[in-house]
Amino acid sequence: MSDGADSGDADDAVATDTAVTTDTATAADADAADTAALDAEAITAARQQAAAADRVVVKAGTNSLTDDESNLSLSKLHKLVDDITDLRDRGKQVVLVSSGAVGAGIGRIGYESDTIEESQALSTIGQSQLMTAYSESFARYDTKVAQILLTQHDLDNPDRFTNIRNTIETLLEWGVVPIINENDAIATEELRIGDNDRLSSSVAIGIDGDLLVTLTDVGGVYTGNPKTDANAELIDAVGANYDEVQAIVDESSTESFGGIQTKVEGARRVSEHGLPGIIAASTEPDVLARIADGETVGTIFLPINGVDNE
Ligand code: GLU
Repeated sequence: MSDGADSGDADDAVATDTAVTTDTATAADADAADTAALDAEAITAARQQAAAADRVVVKAGTNSLTDDESNLSLSKLHKLVDDITDLRDRGKQVVLVSSGAVGAGIGRIGYESDTIEESQALSTIGQSQLMTAYSESFARYDTKVAQILLTQHDLDNPDRFTNIRNTIETLLEWGVVPIINENDAIATEELRIGDNDRLSSSVAIGIDGDLLVTLTDVGGVYTGNPKTDANAELIDAVGANYDEVQAIVDESSTESFGGIQTKVEGARRVSEHGLPGIIAASTEPDVLARIADGETVGTIFLPINGVDNE
C-alpha cells in the first residue's frame, strides 16, 4: 500500500492571508509564486512557532516505513525513532500517528490483498509487527511506547474522544510515546489510503497539539509531481496562495501520487486551528531536529489564527 491516494474532504479551500512559494513551472503556478513575496516575516514567525512547539504530532506514512517489497524497513523505522528522540531530548512531547500496518502485513505474508477483508486481516498481522519493531527501537533510548487504535467514530463521539485524550495525556505525563493508527480490523471505511492524514490532523487539534509534521516520501508540496516532472519545485510555504496550491496539487495528483492531496488537507486543517502544519521528507537527515531549530524544511502551512499571523 502506498502512502495515501484519495481526495478526502475538500472543506479547507478558503483563502488565507500570506504565502510564499519558490519559482514555478506554469502560468497558473506563477500566481502562487506571486503571492509569495507578501510576507516573509509571517513565514519566519511560523517557522519559529513550529520550532517552539511543546507538543508535536508526527505522522509517518507507509512509504516512510516499508521498502519496495512492502517489507517493514527497520532502517527507516529506526531513523524515525531517532528523529522523534531528537524532539524528546529537547523536552517536547511527541505523539506518533503511524501507518504501515497493511503494508507490513503484505510484506510479512508475501501476498497483496484483493479484498477489504484481506486488507483488514493483513493489517492485524502488520500492526503487531509494527508495534514490536517500535517497542524494540524506542527501547534503544529506554523509551516506552503505547498502542492506540482508533476509528473515525471514536473521534466523532465526544465521550470516546475525551477518554482517548485522557489516555494520551496520562501517557505523555508518564513519558511514554503514544503510537496511533486506525483500527483497520473493525472499520472498513477506515482502510482508505490517506485516512491517517485526516486522523493525525484530528488528533493534533483534539489534544491541543502545537504542530503537526507529516513525514512522507517526497520533500513537501511541489508545483508538479516531483517523481515525474523535473521542473517541479518545492513550495516553501502555504497561506494566501492556498487555492492556487490546491489547484496545482489536484492537477499533479495521479493514482501513484495522490497522497499529497490528503496531506495538504490535513496540514491546512490544523493551520485553520492556529497551529503550523509541515509536510516534509522522512528521509531528510535530522528532519525533526531541523524543524525544532526553525530551519526551512519541507512545506509549512502558516497558522491562520496564530498570534503571529493576524
Ligand atoms: N491504517 C493504514 C495502515 O496502517 C494506513 C492508512 C493510511 O495510509 O492513511 O496500513
